Amino acid sequence: MANRRRLPRRRRPWGLWGLWGLGLLGAFGPLDIAGPCLSGVEPTRLEPVSLLVAVAGKSKALSLAGEPGCPDDAGELQEALEAWATASHGRLEKGSSSYRMLGIEVERKKMNKLWEEGHLLVSCYDAFAWLRTGRCPVHGQPPSTEDVLRSMGRVLERPPAEASDDELRAWIGREYGEDGLKRLLASQESLESPTESASPLVELKEFFTWFRRNFPYYHGHCERCMRVTHFLGVARPSDDERQEGGAGVSEVNFCEGCNVSSLFPRFRRVRPVLDTHRGRCGEYSWLALRFLEALGFPARWVDNHAGHAWVEAWVENRCGRWVHIDPCEAAVDEPLLYAEQWGRCPLHVLAYQATAELAVSVEDVTSTYRPADAEAVPEEISQKVTEAVAEARMKLDPWSSFPTQSSCIDTPPAPHSAARGNKEEKRRAASKSSKKCDRVSVWPGQVWWLEPAQGVKTFGQEGAVR
Ligand SMILES: [Zn+2]
Repeated sequence: MANRRRLPRRRRPWGLWGLWGLGLLGAFGPLDIAGPCLSGVEPTRLEPVSLLVAVAGKSKALSLAGEPGCPDDAGELQEALEAWATASHGRLEKGSSSYRMLGIEVERKKMNKLWEEGHLLVSCYDAFAWLRTGRCPVHGQPPSTEDVLRSMGRVLERPPAEASDDELRAWIGREYGEDGLKRLLASQESLESPTESASPLVELKEFFTWFRRNFPYYHGHCERCMRVTHFLGVARPSDDERQEGGAGVSEVNFCEGCNVSSLFPRFRRVRPVLDTHRGRCGEYSWLALRFLEALGFPARWVDNHAGHAWVEAWVENRCGRWVHIDPCEAAVDEPLLYAEQWGRCPLHVLAYQATAELAVSVEDVTSTYRPADAEAVPEEISQKVTEAVAEARMKLDPWSSFPTQSSCIDTPPAPHSAARGNKEEKRRAASKSSKKCDRVSVWPGQVWWLEPAQGVKTFGQEGAVR
């Protein structure tokens, strides 16, 4: 898909779908090109790397020829590099030239060095994936073991410097209001003793509606003049942004009106996102997960492995259930949103939860997000997802991380905050569950099912609790 328009006339290189694809923080994952539920996946593989490199003094720009939205014209890439170099370093470096070449490992190493030095602009995420891994992503494919492991890692990653539950509750009280905080906490406590006045769904809807007003989806507009900017590529974030904010890349946007480039570091920590109010689904899904955990809701991070992420919270008393929450859409309990309103019926959706007993659990929740009358997901795809999940679980220490143990399908999984060491609480939860519910086994990370005597039922299928 060629994009030969020169910079001044270039529109945003990605339309809405492209931004959706860029939503994951720091992600360079493939865009899902699958259409509505009726069609299967038509994989489009990028052919062996053909790189386009522009040079200006010490700096280079890298583009992967053939990647949609990436410049595949030397002049256009040169202009992007010069716009970035001038804005970042205050002057245009001399010695510009550009050339096309084939991707060779030695060149990749050299470019990685340039990246580390902050002298490389990488035009697109596929090119970035190639730079870091030496491989081209394959589009429209089910998640691989590596993809599942990466998502597991994100959920597991709890750096000590991350905002604490206390800090997040205090933030909510201050910004959203003490009354609102009390109502949210009361609605969570109604898991234990339900009251008419504290419905978690109502409270969560109100909170996330407020959240979206204050944390709008960042479309890359210029913060000085609000004009739509040109996406030039990604560059290395500053040391602070990397260490404190967990950012792996910084997107570079150029504003023609102001003639400057601005940076959008893809933070993976809560604090910088609270400070900047800038994010897409990556930043906001992480923030939503942490808010829910701080409020005491069991929560999990949901990845469709096609460029979008959201969360789920365990709500309601009695046979509780996982409820869909999308902070970018202020959507609560609207799992068919993607299929019905976005026209993108998901083919693979996995939910990741950091829990007390299991380091991280993974559950295939695809069916939740597909209309009842949707055509079945092609067998080949479901099988690949199942295999990737199984292999990822094995790779993540099969012995200590995922012991098989008893739990209770009627009792909400322990919230992550309880996971941080309240043994008494865990003990009480365990004894309560054994009194109230049938014994079930928890298999490594994924599914709860009843003992064979009662028939095998997966959590989420017909007949199980949901
Ligand atoms: Zn501007």
